[in-house]
Amino acid sequence: MNVLHVTPEFYPLVKTGGLADVAAALPAALRRRGVDARVLLPGYLRVLKNLKGRKTEIETPGFLGHRARILAAKSGEVPVFVLDAPSLYDRPGTPYVGLDGKDYPDNDLRFAALARAAAWLARRDGRAWRPDVIHAHDWQAGLAPAYLALRPHGEWRPKTVFTFHNLAYQGLFPAERLAALDLPRDGFRVDGFEYWGKIGFLKAGLYYADALTTVSPTYSAEVQEALEGRGLQGLLRGRAEDFHGILNGVDYEVWNPASDPHLAAGYDADHLDRRAENKAALQARMGLDVRADASLFVVVSRLVPEKGMDLLLPAIEGVVGRGGQIAVLGAGDAGIEHEIQAMAHGNAGRVAAVIGYDESLAHLMQGGGDAIVVPSRSEPCGLTQLYGLRYGCLPVVRRTGGLADSVTDADAAALADGTATGFVFGQASGAALWDACWRAMDLYAKPEDWRRVQRNAMAQDFSWDASAAAYHDLYGDLTQV
Ligand code: ADP
Repeated sequence: MNVLHVTPEFYPLVKTGGLADVAAALPAALRRRGVDARVLLPGYLRVLKNLKGRKTEIETPGFLGHRARILAAKSGEVPVFVLDAPSLYDRPGTPYVGLDGKDYPDNDLRFAALARAAAWLARRDGRAWRPDVIHAHDWQAGLAPAYLALRPHGEWRPKTVFTFHNLAYQGLFPAERLAALDLPRDGFRVDGFEYWGKIGFLKAGLYYADALTTVSPTYSAEVQEALEGRGLQGLLRGRAEDFHGILNGVDYEVWNPASDPHLAAGYDADHLDRRAENKAALQARMGLDVRADASLFVVVSRLVPEKGMDLLLPAIEGVVGRGGQIAVLGAGDAGIEHEIQAMAHGNAGRVAAVIGYDESLAHLMQGGGDAIVVPSRSEPCGLTQLYGLRYGCLPVVRRTGGLADSVTDADAAALADGTATGFVFGQASGAALWDACWRAMDLYAKPEDWRRVQRNAMAQDFSWDASAAAYHDLYGDLTQV
């Protein structure tokens, strides 16, 4: 089976967020299952620079008035097609935003062209490789299912899957752009790609793809309700039969406490005592009192309200008041950054904050912290709690999205039957978070029980293999009919 993933990001060629990791890890995991998964992405400046090895060139007729060719190469084991269209992508700046900090004014064309290239690669003209399934990711690839579905009736087309990694990003553009994007006027309606008077790229994917997925089962249920659905809940509910929540996986080669080069001491579930060395190293590095007995809560997060970071302050007070410690690594909202820094200043030795992005420190926090706090208001999947499970850094999470799907609360029943892996709370309030932290500190005071939960957490399997199997099944169902 041939599957083409269409994505605006792909690790390691270009990354601004988690989508890049998914777009690389999922095709790789599918290939291990015998699926011929390949990737199509835009030829941004940095992609062309990072694309090593032998390339072959595929001439194209150009897309939406822009000259283009497609370069075929390999990134690791994954074959990639890179859409080389200098008039669209040859610019400094990020994939979406120019050096002036503003979205590129032609982002609609830049990503419509990507979708056109996907549809062009899928035409049936006797070429050696053509996809049976086109799998489009996020609004940037949302028009691919639309262009394919709007082809003349009776023309063969591959099946299409559309995955959104966060429903908040919609790709909206003015209706006047219909002609430039070569979209038919009669598709500009609620039953089509129109979204509140605009052309919606995400909406197009949701409406025209044969199947839809998002990145956790709970999030897939949440977006069918008004609170998270952003006006799309009706459409998603109507398509519930074609809509699947599949939890993202983790790259256990990068996130493995036994071989993690960022740790002071490697360990596994049978050598949990070695975590003490990491804890001491983390405390020293963050300027915390080096104390083995203090329960150490860590936070690795964007510091924004969506991540529940404003709930943190009351909980910090409680933790410190009971003799615990908190270490925060993150950046984001200036107000939240400031409050956390002030908290660290006023509680030297017990609260510490590093404002910024530090990959190495993020690993040490998982390897040395006792518990990782993820109090998100909304969380499509979430990764840091999955790393926490693998590292025995027990997650304290709010019951939402992928957090709800990956952590089992250490209530009396789960402790008794050995299924507990962390601490889960419901309400998005500082008091509810503090209550969960309190329960964590209670358990921490019973080292044998704590270790049992740690070992259980570390035994959970959130590898890509399980997620890839679910996508493989979905492709199979689609292509059988
Ligand atoms: P989101 O994509 O919404 O920010 P996720 O939990 O899905 O949240 O992914 C966040 C990723 O970014 C994780 O890999 C996490 O370790 C990493 N991360 C977040 N903030 C920082 C930071 N300040 N320094 C290092 N890594 C960070």
